Amino acid sequence: MTAKLLEGTTLAGQIRGEIARDAKLLKDQGRKVCLTAVQVGEQAESVLYVKNQERVCAEVGITFRLSQLPTSISQAGLLHAIEELNNDPTVHGIILQLPLPARLDARLAQRAIDPRKDAEGVHPVNLGLIVYGVTQRAPCTAIAAYSLIKSLHQDLYGKEAVVVGHSQIVGKPIGLLLLHDYCTVCTCHIATRDLGDHTRRADLLVVAAGKPNLIKKDMVKPGAIVVDIGVNRVPVVDEAGRPVLNEKGKPKHKVVGDVDFEGVKDVAEWITPVPGGVGPLTVTMLLRNVIEQGKAAAK
Ligand code: NAD
Repeated sequence: MTAKLLEGTTLAGQIRGEIARDAKLLKDQGRKVCLTAVQVGEQAESVLYVKNQERVCAEVGITFRLSQLPTSISQAGLLHAIEELNNDPTVHGIILQLPLPARLDARLAQRAIDPRKDAEGVHPVNLGLIVYGVTQRAPCTAIAAYSLIKSLHQDLYGKEAVVVGHSQIVGKPIGLLLLHDYCTVCTCHIATRDLGDHTRRADLLVVAAGKPNLIKKDMVKPGAIVVDIGVNRVPVVDEAGRPVLNEKGKPKHKVVGDVDFEGVKDVAEWITPVPGGVGPLTVTMLLRNVIEQGKAAAK
């Protein structure tokens, strides 16, 4: 069997089209929807994310602002800056760029964001609502993976679903989302004794571990739906296993998921590519959270 590709780009394009229409409608009423990113210092990783957020916001007509705070800011100073954004009626979504300097408590800062303006869906209120089946402002990656699965229009009732990874904002919420569709959910993690023993039973296998090649062909049930959330930057090697160099003589890198795509595509029915699977939808869900808040504020 050669698996069909479960790509996120088409669904992401559709949803972004809807967001752009809503943003334009609001703009025509004199209401600009705005996402504000809070960045402490300038960590290389978050600079890249900020640029990407700015670009996608521009694409759909959402205003993007950056609240750049000094590296030396205190915890109280950070909480105060977030409180100001909570009280600013021109701001509809807030995203706290991680990582923060080690002396700052990221969880405390995320909890300070008004849950209605929580663009990433990481506030405990929004995480807790998933238990009730309320998925407005669910964590972006979890709802992105779930939406991709739902886009297949398959009856999930009674399916064996195995989620590899149990982080607060990816693995755990995905398990809860799938429970609402009456999947039988098994969540695996670093302490799981025989991972393959579980994954081989999965009709639906969702992997978010951050470990390249964790899931191999012999760990997948024939005909399974495989959703690979992992994003790993690995060196490119030639057939002899030597690193391939770029034009500057530095080792080349590529992005891969947690699933051995080449092997697993021969047994699965559906498989997400990395990149191009869950990734494009994750940022789309962030924009959707912001536009929904913009619409709610306009009522
Ligand atoms: P995390 O580090 O918080 O959690 C990793 C999880 O994997 C943990 O539950 C851990 O117990 C489990 N794990 C690690 N090694 C394992 C192993 N050998 N066997 C079984 N379980 C194992 O990571 P996260 O934030 O949940 O992210 C997971 C992956 O998803 C990362 O690669 C991350 O880059 C990626 N990610 C992708 C997107 C996207 O938009 N596609 C968004 C967020 C995260």
